[in-house]
Amino acid sequence: MKILLVEPNFPIPPKSKNHRDFLPIGLLKLASYHRKKGDKVKLVRGNRYFPDFYPKQIKITSLFTYWADYVWESVKFYKENYPKAKVIVGGIYASLMPEHCRKSGCDDVFVGVDEAAEKCEPAYNLVDVDYQIVHTSRGCTRRCKFCGTWKIEPEFKSKKSIKKEIKSNRIIFYDNNLLANPYIKDILEELKNSKHNGRVVYSESQCGIDGRLLTPEVAKLLKQARFLNPRIAWDHGYGQRKMIKKQIDMLVEAGYPAKDIYVFMIYNYEPDYYEMLKKLKQCKKWGVQIADCRYRPLNQTFDKYNGRVKQTSEDYYIHPSWTDKRVKLFRKKVRQQNITIRHGFDFYSRELERLGARRKREMPVLA
Ligand code: SF4
Repeated sequence: MKILLVEPNFPIPPKSKNHRDFLPIGLLKLASYHRKKGDKVKLVRGNRYFPDFYPKQIKITSLFTYWADYVWESVKFYKENYPKAKVIVGGIYASLMPEHCRKSGCDDVFVGVDEAAEKCEPAYNLVDVDYQIVHTSRGCTRRCKFCGTWKIEPEFKSKKSIKKEIKSNRIIFYDNNLLANPYIKDILEELKNSKHNGRVVYSESQCGIDGRLLTPEVAKLLKQARFLNPRIAWDHGYGQRKMIKKQIDMLVEAGYPAKDIYVFMIYNYEPDYYEMLKKLKQCKKWGVQIADCRYRPLNQTFDKYNGRVKQTSEDYYIHPSWTDKRVKLFRKKVRQQNITIRHGFDFYSRELERLGARRKREMPVLA
């Protein structure tokens, strides 16, 4: 059977295509699964017609609900060009909004995680990457209201070991909540002692880490396991600052320079602009960087955000306690503050930003 696996034309900048945050990992696992069954598989990014490859099934992945339009475009294109093929859509948007997704004209919607494909190793030979993606767990033990994880993966499942899976010197964890894995200490011990091709293994996490689960012992193990750039979440108000400071202290104590620690923040959400500014200021005092994330509701099916022009809620989601101007100003302030922290400047200016970038380019690359 011929299977075409499609990643729609999502607006991912070309240089980020194989970036750790955007690898179509579900499709890569499906590719292995179908190959094992003896199927012929092709992976395509965007909408392309192959005159010499007529698939029986076309499996289209989806990402954020606000990128639904790209999925619909792909469904339309492949239905028109391969009318005899069965078009199935899976992934995040399909799982969160199956009824909306069905209206795209696809033949079927796949909700949740494909357990059979999940057991397969991703077919990395279909993409050009120098890292490996690992899930030590699925789902999450928490139920944050802005998050879709627990809706898509309602059951929390974890692995005891990943030792036999390690096939690269760089691992990216795709866990939603890495530290919630009850065996995390054992896994970090494994990483600490692991080598691949005679060299040590580095790791990082695509999602932030749940600082509430951090202990001095876990922080130390993260560092010893060569876990890079820990990002802890500060989801709510300024009132959480003491707790966040404690988490940062544990990481600093474990050996992470403050500037390599990120605080993950949702903005355009319940804490208003002024409260977020206080959080921003606090992070500056602590000398940590910010990983900001603009909130969009889980059922938002469009996002035409453009940082360079004035916009309204017709263009993208603006929380009632925010405005377009504040959303954009906050983003700008985060960016500028991160530059000052990263390069150790006292204040931000364009000249200093250019200087920082030049210094980075001229830094020797260590093999
Ligand atoms: S802890 Fe993270 S992954 Fe878990 S529900 Fe909250 S936001 Fe989602």
